Amino acid sequence: MTIAENVALVQENIARAARAAGRDPAGIRLVAASKMNDAARVREAIAAGVRVFGENRVQEMLEKHAQGAYEGAELHFIGHLQKNKVRQVVGLASLIHSVDSLELLAVIDRCAAARGLRQDVLLEVNIGGEASKSGFAPEALPAALEKAGEYGAVQVRGLMAIPPVCASPEENRPFFLRMKQLFVDNGRKKYDNVSMDFLSMGMSGDYTEAVACGADLVRVGTAIFGARDYSRK
Ligand SMILES: *Cc1c(COP(=O)(O)O)cnc(C)c1O
Repeated sequence: MTIAENVALVQENIARAARAAGRDPAGIRLVAASKMNDAARVREAIAAGVRVFGENRVQEMLEKHAQGAYEGAELHFIGHLQKNKVRQVVGLASLIHSVDSLELLAVIDRCAAARGLRQDVLLEVNIGGEASKSGFAPEALPAALEKAGEYGAVQVRGLMAIPPVCASPEENRPFFLRMKQLFVDNGRKKYDNVSMDFLSMGMSGDYTEAVACGADLVRVGTAIFGARDYSRK
């Protein structure tokens, strides 16, 4: 399968899952998770119709950006972001999916303010309560959203989650449904600098379930680019 064939298939699956759930497929955005795929493969995906890329590693993103990899597309940051690398991401990524602490939010705010811009972010939720994962506990969200009101150079646009690794996609459903509920509940109250627009969840193994449960952004890597070769690097 070529990247173009994979993109077509993924888009078709998203559209089918959306329609089955009574949702408009046009409202769901495919974010191609392009880590470990070089600029040529990113361009191939753009030629196949991908409009948004999500990167995990700052250095890799900067290198590919310098090569013009993302021209014609939007760039998101989806990986764990260290505070000392915020400067390199703010303004370059139109959306940072992975804000996992108030400290990180504060650093992004300071950096965006210094540049005179406003950075869109999502708050990452540790929906499985896993010790190995970062992110806000569901109970911590209201206080975090309230706190966002103090940060005028960030706009919280929604929530993101990576559920625990499950044996089958169906097992992720309870996590996805819980995320949707959190998204709706926390979106009811109006907070300054917060607009609950996007729910980011679902990867190659489970993006159709995520769409069925209310995802607006799905982050798909392997199903588009094939398996990543971790031995090379
Ligand atoms: C790599 C990655 C994905 C995509 O994973 P696949 O299983 O290859 O689709 C999605 N989200 C994040 C945060 C990732 O790091």
